[in-house]
Order: sequence, then C-alpha cells, then structure tokens
Amino acid sequence: MKAINVMKMSFYSRSVNEGFARGALAAFIAQADPTVPQLADIKTAVSEAVTNSIVHAYPQQVGLVYLTVWIYPEGQIKVTVMDKGVGIENIQKAMEPMYTTGDPEERAGLGFAVMQSFMDKVKVTSSTGKGTRVTMWKQVGAGR
Ligand code: ATP
Ligand code: MG
Repeated sequence: MKAINVMKMSFYSRSVNEGFARGALAAFIAQADPTVPQLADIKTAVSEAVTNSIVHAYPQQVGLVYLTVWIYPEGQIKVTVMDKGVGIENIQKAMEPMYTTGDPEERAGLGFAVMQSFMDKVKVTSSTGKGTRVTMWKQVGAGR
C-alpha cells in the first residue's frame, strides 16, 4: 500500500532528544486523527524504542538515531526506530519482560513489553556490531 505521507528524521543519541522525538512524532501523526489514548500509546511505545537506541546502542560514544513515520490510508501508522549501534545478540531474550543488560537500579527491562502492549505489532531486527531496527504498526482513528 502506498503511504499518504512520510516523515524522516535523525538526531544524536542524547537523552535531551527523547522529548524532542516524542513531540515531533505527535505533531506529525496528528494529521491521521488519532484519539487521545491512541496518540499517547504511540508516543509511549516510540519513546521506549528511542530511549533504547540512546541508552543501549552507543554505550561508548554518541551516534545517530533514525526515526521514520509513515501514514497510510485508513489510519494505518508505521514507525521505525533505527540505530547503527552495538546490536542485540539474542532478540528473543531481549524482548522477554524484565530482561535487561542495563543497570537494574535504573532499568526495568520492560521497554519491549510496553511497545508490544501499546502497538498492534512490533518487529525487531538486529545485527551485532551493525545496529537495530524496531518496526511498529498501529491503526488509529475513531472507532478503532
Ligand atoms: P527499560 O526499557 O525498562 O528501561 P531496558 O531498556 O533494559 O529497560 P528493554 O527496553 O525491554 O529493557 O530492552 C531489553 C534489552 O534489549 C536491553 O537491556 C538491551 O540489552 C537490549 N536492547 C534494546 N534495544 C537496544 C538497542 N537499540 N541496541 C542495543 N541493545 C538494545
Ligand atoms: Mg528500554
């Protein structure tokens, strides 16, 4: 299916950009007429993916995070969050609730679980040393 509109942006993996990415995403998706809860769900899910690229992908340096949003007919939204960081060795394990390689004081290991519960579908591809791509879909609009 051909997209009605697309938005691509990239930014440094600095935590100050988490809020910026969330705001830009919300402003773009508004044109698809999501309900308030649908918009909140997408913002939360995308925020988790962006935070993962910022926190986990580039542990030793600053790298680029790529956010792309497509709007398709009938309120179908697709979002990808991509980085060229360290990658994930075992995706299945990484997606298990409460699994984290981060500081257990700070991280709950629930980012992927949040993405999966707030979006219709989540797909993760990753390659060690090359990076990670999270693709998420959600249908928005009144009556959905
Ligand atoms: P929380 O999201 O609750 O703060 P978390 O980030 O550790 O904790 P998830 O978001 O579920 O939990 O991610 C699980 C694990 O997957 C991470 O601990 C990390 O090892 C790995 N991971 C996730 N995203 C990336 C990424 N973009 N690059 C490298 N590793 C990642
Ligand atoms: Mg996380």
